[in-house]
Amino acid sequence: MLEANISQQNISQRNPTILVTGGAGYIGSHAVLALQQAGFRVVVLDNLVYGHRELVEDELQVELVVGDTNDRLLLDQIFASHHIAAVMHFAAYAYVGESVSDPGKYYRNNVLGTLTLLEAMVAANVKRFVFSSTCATYGVPKTIPIPEDHPQDPINPYGASKLMVERILGDFDVAHDLKSVYFRYFNAAGADPQSRLGEDHNPETHLIPLVLMAALGKRDSISVFGTDYPTPDGTCIRDYIHVADLARAHVLGVKYLLEGGNSNGFNLGNGSGFSVRQVIDAARQVTGREIKVVECDRRPGDPPALVGSSEKAQQILGWQSQYADLDQILTHAWKWHQKRHTQAST
Ligand code: UDP
Repeated sequence: MLEANISQQNISQRNPTILVTGGAGYIGSHAVLALQQAGFRVVVLDNLVYGHRELVEDELQVELVVGDTNDRLLLDQIFASHHIAAVMHFAAYAYVGESVSDPGKYYRNNVLGTLTLLEAMVAANVKRFVFSSTCATYGVPKTIPIPEDHPQDPINPYGASKLMVERILGDFDVAHDLKSVYFRYFNAAGADPQSRLGEDHNPETHLIPLVLMAALGKRDSISVFGTDYPTPDGTCIRDYIHVADLARAHVLGVKYLLEGGNSNGFNLGNGSGFSVRQVIDAARQVTGREIKVVECDRRPGDPPALVGSSEKAQQILGWQSQYADLDQILTHAWKWHQKRHTQAST
């Protein structure tokens, strides 16, 4: 019995356990996979409002606790019953348009939920935190590509809620020595190259999955939101980053903290921007399908162009994107969408 306990302890030291909130969602599930591949153990906390139970239980086969980051009692139980080395926090609402029409929902979930989680961590003496922030904290950029020290002036409540958490993290470091890494993502896209996981939002609002659903015939057309932006073809420019590259950055972030790294924030993008029309054209090439376009008004809360510089993540974390090519991102997303929608119709 004693021997069994000792070997259990050794395993847990060698393979630290990471609590992943939002691990049943798009980016969170890819991070769970990357953590498993790097030898970590994982517990997922997800309220399943937008997440998918089967991804965690069947595909990833890790423990799923169904619940909310606002539930302090539940958090205390999780920390008491698991030896958690660090937390990766993905659980958040992330619809920019909805955040404009229902800001309270965003501040309650994204800010209060995170605050509750951080307080539970401090109480449990868990002091390593990796946070999903966003390029939406910058607002309308003054320079492109955007460096991390660019002024932050979000133009929608979603971005504001994430910026508040970044500030809370700075204060928790000073007061409680809680060390954090936050990543400001540009546009997450693509899917696991082996199609085990992919993007499956309901409702879906993101450009690439909607374009691919139009290519699959699941939608009649793709709406282009705004053709009068000050960009070469009049449509918005975004920096699309492969979700598997994001996931690997999170693993590097947690390792950095576990090795004693100080709190730090990093952009994660590819440093090159594509317009909405360019994405649609590339999707036509990759899928070989017709994609009908309907030109519409601008969507509220959308800056004209967002492109990030990720040199800091390269220098400090040694991160490199493996799938920087838009065609590759679209190819992986297309493979996964075909699989997903074939399964859904059988
Ligand atoms: N977009 C679009 N049609 C859609 C969805 C998005 O034209 O049906 C545009 C949107 O206005 C933005 C870009 O595509 O300029 C990327 O939007 P997405 O929602 O994918 O990500 P966001 O940049 O909002 O995080």
